[in-house]
Amino acid sequence: MSENSVEPTDTTATGGDGSSQVGGGESGAKQEQYASRLTNLEKIQIKKQTVLSYPLNKKLSKLAVYSRCQAEKCDCIGWKRTDNSMQNPTFTDFCRCEHTLEMHVSHLKQKSEEELNRLLVMVVDVDNMYTAMTKQENIETKRLYLYLFRLLRKCVLTLDTPVVEGPLGQPPFEKPCIHKAVTNFLVYKFSHLGQQELITMYELAKILCHCLNTWDFPPPSSQKHIVSQEATKYKIEYTRWLVFCYVPTFCDSLQRFDTTMVFGRTLLRSVFKYIRKQMLDEFHRERDSTPQEEKRILLLTNFPTFLNQLEEEIYAPNSPIWHPEFKTQSLHFQSILDSKLKG
Ligand SMILES: [Zn+2]
Ligand SMILES: [Zn+2]
Repeated sequence: MSENSVEPTDTTATGGDGSSQVGGGESGAKQEQYASRLTNLEKIQIKKQTVLSYPLNKKLSKLAVYSRCQAEKCDCIGWKRTDNSMQNPTFTDFCRCEHTLEMHVSHLKQKSEEELNRLLVMVVDVDNMYTAMTKQENIETKRLYLYLFRLLRKCVLTLDTPVVEGPLGQPPFEKPCIHKAVTNFLVYKFSHLGQQELITMYELAKILCHCLNTWDFPPPSSQKHIVSQEATKYKIEYTRWLVFCYVPTFCDSLQRFDTTMVFGRTLLRSVFKYIRKQMLDEFHRERDSTPQEEKRILLLTNFPTFLNQLEEEIYAPNSPIWHPEFKTQSLHFQSILDSKLKG
């Protein structure tokens, strides 16, 4: 199988790229980046909706381009027009393999519409993955995108569900997860506070989790200050994050996981200083540019303290917040926090 066999028809930009958000401090860059990613995601969703609303024959013609020719002994893996000026192919049009378009979809005709739709969504993802790959400048990320592109492409051919296997392992990668540890942190540090202050602290924890789940992390090659063993660890964590959290945001044929639910201390140690700087920059910018209501001011005032105290627990060799058996005095308290953080 060759990736050259695909003719990407879609130039929709993908959900951003991991190589352009290095460093930090640039005003509002995070928000703009997030907004532009949302716009791109919308475009991809619209594209998928459009394809799903095609009449059946048009759906099959679209799938033919990515489907194996069913003629005996033919090794063609996708219908290709013989004449570039051809606009709307029909079932009787010939492929370069000299068989008709119909021969490339005969095995799909008895499939349910639901199954065809699943394949069509995957076809859009194949196109998007191709675009993401060609735009990507970071060599390692590019290689990973090529792997995912081939995986999706193969699954359209074999009608399988894409599953990423191999040395990266499967989520969850570490226990307790970040979400659990941050919840433990609130219990450990702030359970003596009054209800109002406590609410402020878990609002902050919620913001932190939201940022960890939606912001991009810097590619390992841009993190020159991380050395040796730490660098190797971050490289693995970053690759896992790309495959299981980041790419599935714009390529939903792949199963997506929340960063805070599947990663633990290793990733948080690697990215905390970076995320913290980004968050504080963002908060300062916001504080200077918009009039604040009381609740907001409370959050902004408490944020540095919250992050400093959390930092201590993240880098401490033996903090109880990472203990697998961390118990809270009050289960009721724990459950309130859990539900608040997930919301
Ligand atoms: Zn063919
Ligand atoms: Zn053929």
